[in-house]
Amino acid sequence: MNTTQKDVIIIGAGPIGIACALECKKHNWDYTVIEKGALTNSLFNYPLNMTFFSTSDKLEIDDIPFISNNPKPTRNEALEYYRRVTTSNKLNINLFENVQTFEKTANGFTVISDKAKYETKKVIIATGFYDIPNLLNIPGEDLPKVLHYYKEAHPYTLQNIAIVGASNSSVDAALEIYRKGGNVTMIVRSDAIGERVKYWVRPDIINRIEEGSIKAYFNSEITEIEPEEITIKTPNGNIKLPNDFVIALTGYRPNFKFLAKARIELSKDGKQIPIYNADTMESNVKGIYLAGVICGGLETHKWFIENSRIHAKTIANHIEKSLS
Ligand SMILES: Cc1cc2nc3c(=O)[nH]c(=O)nc-3n(C[C@H](O)[C@H](O)[C@H](O)COP(=O)(O)OP(=O)(O)OC[C@H]3O[C@@H](n4cnc5c(N)ncnc54)[C@H](O)[C@@H]3O)c2cc1C
Repeated sequence: MNTTQKDVIIIGAGPIGIACALECKKHNWDYTVIEKGALTNSLFNYPLNMTFFSTSDKLEIDDIPFISNNPKPTRNEALEYYRRVTTSNKLNINLFENVQTFEKTANGFTVISDKAKYETKKVIIATGFYDIPNLLNIPGEDLPKVLHYYKEAHPYTLQNIAIVGASNSSVDAALEIYRKGGNVTMIVRSDAIGERVKYWVRPDIINRIEEGSIKAYFNSEITEIEPEEITIKTPNGNIKLPNDFVIALTGYRPNFKFLAKARIELSKDGKQIPIYNADTMESNVKGIYLAGVICGGLETHKWFIENSRIHAKTIANHIEKSLS
């Protein structure tokens, strides 16, 4: 495997990895973004009909205008925007290349992917959290009818669907599947639909539940999944329901094993927040920076595109000082 020399390696071509690439380009640094999937792979895997809760101006990177048909853009418009930013700025991005490990060297790091080896002075980790779902850890979860991502409603028409969770993703999926002719039951661990559910969607789901169009079991959890039914533990005892698909939208978590390979330490308060200096975004490992939603550890709601796009400039300012 040949070794390539770089100033900066950015891991992850999500919106924030792309923002970091724009900064590197402006500073004339020799950089490469390495992305294990497609460009903006997390957004690519979002539901086909999703609409962002942010207005398009809040998703802009480096002040490059993001024009959308309505104030809040769709997934397709966001893909178009980040694609266009990438191609028109001729950013150096290697897609479908998975970074596997790091080694510290005298002048920086060796970054090893499944395709190549890089010697680099600095590393920016912008790997997000969307690749590892929080599992239910119950019998039957490994059945093929159990899904942790929701794409579109069509396959669920005329089917009995259990949706686990009451966050934005669960509520959007429940409403869409109900409106495409699926028989939806929500199983919710807490006693209500989440407070963070988009304010214009919340009344819709609450009304559908109240009128009985969508069934919901609160303070409840699925305890077993079988090929044709599920068992739900409710405050009134266990019940069994016929079931064709379980869509468990119970959140996702960062790849902590990957951070451990880079020797990034995590907070010990249960939130597993990676250790970094908020003024520079440099982690506890000198020369390795963190950017985007990865910075929140298990607090995956803390950072999003709107409030983490700023990380790119903060990191570039610090790298500029240390490379000069
Ligand atoms: C349904 C939904 C709606 C949302 N709506 C909004 C919104 O309205 N406004 C908002 O601001 N935020 C929103 N968010 C959150 C937002 O999408 C994320 O905050 C954003 O994607 C974070 O960008 P990122 O670049 O940090 O991480 P990501 O976009 O997750 O990018 C990380 C990238 O790293 C890659 N990667 C991971 N590991 C490796 C590896 N080992 N080697 C190479 N590549 C790797 C991944 O494939 C991925 O492409 C929403 C999220 C969801 C799920």
